[in-house]
Amino acid sequence: MRRLWTGDYYNEGNGKDDIFDKLKEECGVFGVFGHPDAATLSYYGLHALQHRGEESAGICTSDNGVFHYHRGMGLVKEVFDRDHMESMPGDRSIGHVRYSTAGESKLANAQPLVFKYRGGDLAVATNGNIVNAPQIRRDLESKGSIFQTTSDTEVIAHLIARSPKELVEAVKDAFAQLVGGFAFLIMTNDRLLAASDPHGLRPLVLGRLGEGYILASETCAFETIGASYLRDVQPGEILVLDKDGLHEERYAPLERRAVCAMEYIYFARPDSDINGINLHASRKRMGQQLAVEAFVDADIVTGVPDSSISAAIGYAEQTGISYELGLIKNKYTGRTFIQPSQELREKGVKMKLSAVRKVVEGKRVVMIDDSIVRGTTSRRIVNLLREAGALEVHVRITSPPFANPCFYGIDTPDRRDLIASSKTIEEIREAINADSLYFLSKPGLIESIGGHEDALNRGLCLGCFDNDYPTQVDFEDAKIGCGCD
Ligand code: SF4
Repeated sequence: MRRLWTGDYYNEGNGKDDIFDKLKEECGVFGVFGHPDAATLSYYGLHALQHRGEESAGICTSDNGVFHYHRGMGLVKEVFDRDHMESMPGDRSIGHVRYSTAGESKLANAQPLVFKYRGGDLAVATNGNIVNAPQIRRDLESKGSIFQTTSDTEVIAHLIARSPKELVEAVKDAFAQLVGGFAFLIMTNDRLLAASDPHGLRPLVLGRLGEGYILASETCAFETIGASYLRDVQPGEILVLDKDGLHEERYAPLERRAVCAMEYIYFARPDSDINGINLHASRKRMGQQLAVEAFVDADIVTGVPDSSISAAIGYAEQTGISYELGLIKNKYTGRTFIQPSQELREKGVKMKLSAVRKVVEGKRVVMIDDSIVRGTTSRRIVNLLREAGALEVHVRITSPPFANPCFYGIDTPDRRDLIASSKTIEEIREAINADSLYFLSKPGLIESIGGHEDALNRGLCLGCFDNDYPTQVDFEDAKIGCGCD
């Protein structure tokens, strides 16, 4: 087996324990135009996108211009039954899965949101966040608009409804006022529109199934329903589907191309491709690059499931240290953030993840993870490995330190709660109780993902790592996180 050099690494310390702190996925959208099984396809498509939001789900179909919809709290399989599916005929649909912060669970915010406007019905589903939504909302309210939800989606609906122009031009005008990272699906009685923000921060892909068109947040949804991939929706682009087929238009020039790097690192499913780059392959390259940048002599490599397994395989391949399943995720537990007390939350985390004693006992373990947010989860996982008998735990992270909040749809804590915003690497290592800690370098991350050679950061947003955001974010009350609640 090929081994790399043994470099310097930290080897001391302890810290204090706290709560579950993984970053939260934003939302997933799925659309169908021109297929007789629109509702069923949406069900399976949303099921494939479930990792992007477990809080609520919804589907709205259009049957000869008549809307039918159902939304509910919970997983896709919990929200829809056979009766719901049979009550949603039609050959076009939009659907949504949503994540919301704990305590903000409201059915009123479940999407798609459906409105009446002077041109008929309008259903809207979105992924991401409009940074200047509070300002637009205040402005609209001062002009008489009444809002029923706290969702950004309603802001765009009001902008469209107030415009005197025909629908597509009204949507273009509305989008031109928005600052943020978003992917939108809008369905009217006779059309389906899809749009990406001018930086392409949130992924949105176009596919084909039979005579119909499919739109989805990730290509994994295409695989599930047997659709073929056509292309990614481009930054600033708006696609219009109507009885005459597909029309490709723009509402804004391409600004700095900046796909969310965390989609590659953590959020998207490993079997998805974003801009032609497969997630599993890019995560493997991150693991290989970590090995090059921060090799440590060890007996086994393990990845924190599920997002870090690909990177752990890459680290193992690069170093020759064997990859082992040192950590197992229990997929059948409830979501820990709904547990009311700290004590129960801590039990919840253990319910979610277990160390495999027979694998890690007496071993020097390299543990690969995608990010450290508050540091509490990392510490808990390191301690799980230690309690199961690991001799040493060396933590390798496939992203640079996450030191800044996200304004584009990722639910991040306040800056002061991000451990990397105030602590040195050595202090973080101490806090998570690791023997050594290394974060992938920014150039190493960019190189591992690949992407557009001629764009800044090869077309990636790295704002939460380098505080250099692709849009203006210093609005008076710019919202952090997701705009769907
Ligand atoms: S700030 Fe970070 S999480 Fe937010 S879009 Fe940019 S890379 Fe993604």
